[in-house]
Amino acid sequence: MARDHGETIGRTIGCRRCGRKRGMIRRHGLRLCRQCFRDIGRDIGFKKFS
Ligand SMILES: [Zn+2]
Repeated sequence: MARDHGETIGRTIGCRRCGRKRGMIRRHGLRLCRQCFRDIGRDIGFKKFS
């Protein structure tokens, strides 16, 4: 298994919420697109993101 390069992690390549690869945010192992990150990021404790 590769490290956290974001491509060979497994079957989840795109956003784990909506599946799109566009605007992905891979930090913190979230693997969410920016829209989903905005949508649920706050809800999971990333309140600094504004
Ligand atoms: Zn998404």
